[in-house]
Amino acid sequence: MTEDKRAAGSTDAVHVEHWCQAPGCKRWGCFGYDKGKGQSDWWCGDHRPDRMPGY
Ligand SMILES: [Zn+2]
Repeated sequence: MTEDKRAAGSTDAVHVEHWCQAPGCKRWGCFGYDKGKGQSDWWCGDHRPDRMPGY
């Protein structure tokens, strides 16, 4: 077990807490978008991008 969940390469980090990426928004990011390179963006229903492929 490692205590540093933010370490690069940890795919489990997305399962911890993911809030909306929009500045000032404190809503829960229930919509996740894979940016590649093992990173994901999370958005609430109001801020989620609508031009992402596959959605
Ligand atoms: Zn938001």
